[in-house]
Amino acid sequence: MDFTEQVAKQLLSRHGINTPTGIAVSADWPNLDLTRAMAVFAGKPVAVKAQVPAGGRGKAGGVVLTADPMSAIARMAGTKLGDHTVKQILVEEQVNIAHELYMAVAVDGSTGGPLLMFSPEGGVDIESSDTPLATVAMAVDAEPDQSQLATALAQAGCPEPVDEVAATAARLFAAFTAADAELLEINPLAVTTDGAVVALDGKLTVDDSAAGRQEQLATHASVPPVTGLEAKAAEHGLRFIELDGSVGVLANGAGLTMTTMDAITHYGGRPANFLEIGGDAYTLAVPALEVVLANPKVRSLIVNFCGAFARCDVMTGGVIEAWKTLQPDIPVFFSIHGTGMDEARDMVRRELGAEPFEYMDDAIKAAVRAAADSDDDSVTGTDS
Ligand code: GDP
Ligand code: MN
Repeated sequence: MDFTEQVAKQLLSRHGINTPTGIAVSADWPNLDLTRAMAVFAGKPVAVKAQVPAGGRGKAGGVVLTADPMSAIARMAGTKLGDHTVKQILVEEQVNIAHELYMAVAVDGSTGGPLLMFSPEGGVDIESSDTPLATVAMAVDAEPDQSQLATALAQAGCPEPVDEVAATAARLFAAFTAADAELLEINPLAVTTDGAVVALDGKLTVDDSAAGRQEQLATHASVPPVTGLEAKAAEHGLRFIELDGSVGVLANGAGLTMTTMDAITHYGGRPANFLEIGGDAYTLAVPALEVVLANPKVRSLIVNFCGAFARCDVMTGGVIEAWKTLQPDIPVFFSIHGTGMDEARDMVRRELGAEPFEYMDDAIKAAVRAAADSDDDSVTGTDS
């Protein structure tokens, strides 16, 4: 049985081999992982990769390097690559490649023991031929000697850092053994322009009779990472994702929330969260605000409401009540438009003594600036 790249990479990663930061998303949307991926990789160059258990994707359109992952995902989802329908897509940070190497451990047909294969010429061309050209094929035993590995790799034309590539070979061997694999392949194993050694692809084949092992690998791969705060938000029925920026976001609807996050990034800030509050803003304002503020990185808050069926005055009323209850000591900036906006803006002036912004961009710029100023304060205000 062949596994997808994502499963193989998780196995590699657990054994200490570098893999790019990535998020696997389901091809049917909307879904929370897609939102998370868009938020985490906003504006960054990424690799968008169809997760089908077969190689040759690079040549078949299943690997796209882009700064616009949404379009690439939309084009790829549900299409066929060979015999497989694309149901899952991996979005990864892009890596700058200096060299593409080939490395694999496979069961040696003649001895039944493990065989390490290596070539300094990795990449999509080597994969398209049935038998990859291995410049080095050496039998490895329980504890491969790393300096011996390094010598053999260097002789085969391995570029620097040879010791790190040798360490990767030893880790690959350990991962191969742990998974009871028939084949565990990294192609390409990239040496980046920064001199790091990173597995850009992974292929794992496990004997069909090793059923228990397969199940274990499959469950490992399907559990999405959730922070404590995200779990708490889910208990209240809130769709919340914790990010590592400093501008807290409270907006109604997934679309406006994403737009707000994009604008924060555009103006040089970083969003602290995704939170979809929707028409429940009134009843859920307290837990929503609690969750947003519980993130210790939050330095300012943008409240961005656009009313249609959900009225601005109702949503804003909820937030004001929550604000009075929790009394946070960070600045808050309001952009309020649509149904009930006049009443809502009056409420903000009257109850919080704050002036809502006429334009969304101005509110967001102010929130970004406040977060940056507060970070400066915390740097100059302490000795640490
Ligand atoms: P495969 O064709 O199914 O084996 O898919 P791969 O995962 O091997 O990707 C194919 C090719 O895409 C690789 O050989 C790389 O040249 C390229 N590629 C994949 N990820 C990245 C990346 O992060 N940065 C760059 N620059 N190229 C990448
Ligand atoms: Mn590959």
